[in-house]
Amino acid sequence: MRRAAQAALCAVVAASCLVGCSPDDGSIKVALLLPDVKTARYEALDRPIFTQRLEELGDYSVLYSNADQDAAKQQSQAEAALASGVEVLVLDPVDSAAAVSIVIAANAQGVPVIAYDRIVDGGELAYYISFDNDTIGDLQAQALVERLDDTGATGGILMVNGSPTDNNAQQFKRGATAALEASGYPILAEFDTPDWSPNQAQDWVASQVTLYGDRISGVYAANDGTAGGAIAALKAAGIRDFPVVTGQDAELAAIQRIVSGDQYMTIYKDIRAEAALAAEIVDDLVEGRPVTGELTIGGTPTTLLDAQVVTVETVLSSVVADGLYTVEQICTAE
Ligand code: BGC
Repeated sequence: MRRAAQAALCAVVAASCLVGCSPDDGSIKVALLLPDVKTARYEALDRPIFTQRLEELGDYSVLYSNADQDAAKQQSQAEAALASGVEVLVLDPVDSAAAVSIVIAANAQGVPVIAYDRIVDGGELAYYISFDNDTIGDLQAQALVERLDDTGATGGILMVNGSPTDNNAQQFKRGATAALEASGYPILAEFDTPDWSPNQAQDWVASQVTLYGDRISGVYAANDGTAGGAIAALKAAGIRDFPVVTGQDAELAAIQRIVSGDQYMTIYKDIRAEAALAAEIVDDLVEGRPVTGELTIGGTPTTLLDAQVVTVETVLSSVVADGLYTVEQICTAE
């Protein structure tokens, strides 16, 4: 009799869980917290590759959240993930300083945190995976300067940096500024783009075109989203000698702009390798295997992957040879 009552009760609980609770199917829950939806990489590569690799490694389920550039929203997404019993938090923070409280909360529950692509300013991190971001800024600026030299440019440079709350953006800016200052080309003006917003980059570049006009020879844009905004503003203004524009991420739209000549270069980071490595580190942590990195930053084992410059000359030997895009995808207008 007691057994029958128990079974009936459990059936009710199970049924209500299908609609109300997070399913408890025995899989290991892992949270993936990504920062924004305006940048193509997160939905196109980071999320699917991470999920696929983790599912290959074991019986995992990924609780995915995207904060849409809102640090407070990311905080509640992290709290919800911790409350639902995730075993690892993979965190790409909107705000590297504000996210310290997420790490502290996870640490208090014994949940390891992997800082994914962007580091967090504090708390105890189990691992950090990214690229050498100072070097990326340097590569972008060096490529820009070489192109300006080749074309005999006489004007200056606008700097469209990334979000002021993103630690990576500070690193890109630091690397780029050093190289630009050494080049002798004047930095006419610079802007830290809130939320990495392509629209805000566009509006700012439009305002600078009215100030500097044809004196703008180059635009250092920190990523492909802001490059797209900058290029839209330059085109709308009908500027005579189209400036040399940089980017980062090797987004499909940017590769298409490089082929059509609107954007000079981008940085190809192997985001697929980054996402797959994050999944492998999750599995190591869950299985209790020791995690090591090629270096440590602030005591955290770290892996920094390589990045390379892509121009029209190297589209085929980089992103196409690596199978990121086919020639057909690149040559088909969206
Ligand atoms: C990432 C870039 C990305 C940018 C905007 C940076 O932290 O490293 O790949 O374009 O954020 O989301």
